[in-house]
Amino acid sequence: MRRKGLASMAVQTVATSSDTTVDLGPAAALSCRECGHRVPLGPVFACEECFGPLEIAYEFSAYDTEELRRRIEAGPANIWRYAPLLPVPADVAGKPNLNPGWTKLVQADNLARELGVTGGLYVKDDSGNPTHSFKDRVVAQALEAARAFGFTTLSCSSTGNLAGAVGAAAARAGFRSCVFIPHDLEQGKVVMAAVYGGELVGIEGNYDDVNRFCSELIGDPAGEGWGFVNVNLRPYYAEGSKTLAYEICEQLGWRLPDQIVVPIASGSQLTKIDKGLQELVKLGLVEDRPYKIFGAQAEGCSPVSTAYKAGHDVVRPQKPDTIAKSLAIGNPADGPYVLDIARRTGGAVEDVTDEQIVDAIKLLARTEGIFAETAGGVTVGVTRKLIESGLLDPALTTVVLNTGDGLKTLDAVAGTGLTATIRPTLDSFREAGLA
Ligand SMILES: [Zn+2]
Repeated sequence: MRRKGLASMAVQTVATSSDTTVDLGPAAALSCRECGHRVPLGPVFACEECFGPLEIAYEFSAYDTEELRRRIEAGPANIWRYAPLLPVPADVAGKPNLNPGWTKLVQADNLARELGVTGGLYVKDDSGNPTHSFKDRVVAQALEAARAFGFTTLSCSSTGNLAGAVGAAAARAGFRSCVFIPHDLEQGKVVMAAVYGGELVGIEGNYDDVNRFCSELIGDPAGEGWGFVNVNLRPYYAEGSKTLAYEICEQLGWRLPDQIVVPIASGSQLTKIDKGLQELVKLGLVEDRPYKIFGAQAEGCSPVSTAYKAGHDVVRPQKPDTIAKSLAIGNPADGPYVLDIARRTGGAVEDVTDEQIVDAIKLLARTEGIFAETAGGVTVGVTRKLIESGLLDPALTTVVLNTGDGLKTLDAVAGTGLTATIRPTLDSFREAGLA
């Protein structure tokens, strides 16, 4: 391979529809996932030819593997160490943002013993991010895109984690934030989103009504200059999930995991993890070997696992009813892509009941000291179920994702409490059988 410095790494300057130019590192264009139609980088998310989803197309043609590896390893302990692989400006690390990522990859030997895993079991614990969920990764990407496109207000529709992540990121970066949520959300989620000082608007209606309202606002003069992280900035936002794949491989010593268990809400995270793993192979940063990606859902919202088990290519929407609210998307946009990836890599999609989710939260907490939110209970519970059914090989290296902090979903384990109540005397302590 011809050696080339990183300075020449296909940094492109592309004109947007508003005639301004943006420099987003190796991002070359937006490409339709369905028909391949390409458009210049801009705040658009749907293909003008077929209405398919747009995603970032990169130009990685000129690079030197070892130089890139050295540059990443010398980078900051956050997602910006991977800036050469992300749609962000080269100087992104010097800008005010929450700098999420580089969360712990916990070697979970105690959990491995409980589950009978002998090939190495790891928990990628994303509760360590600034607002305690993986959403900080995707919002950080959207924020940089918003900056590049000249937006001054950051917005989203949310039912919880995302609202907090957007509020916090906007506060740090000096953006106005205006976030829309259903008006009757739990008090805890409202406080977590409101504390950062941005505007928080309750919409009289459910999450679908909130989404519909945001779509109307984007097309209205009232929404001009607004970057909706999960709508008009979605192609950039979604790329943040690739950093999970990069970190897992680097933390394993630049090695692909054999198996990885990922929660499914919209399915975007799983598809981007696959994209990230493939990029590392293409760039020569990891050895090309087979890996399997498994998707995890709650039984009360399992449109993708239902389709997987039925052998279908299309995902039939469901009405969610589960304690895993951060995964409760009944009509997941990336569901069909998840089915493709699970089948292509030899993985599977499985679901667990609410009771199994709670059991798994407690199992992870008592074996590894990690208090996961319900989505983490879903991945751990599904891992156990996949081992029991023989679909996941316990002799292979396995990584399980925990995407959020258990403090966000305390209700799920509300029955957990005191072992005993005693008088402040040793006699009482002994009587309680605790000596
Ligand atoms: Zn298209």
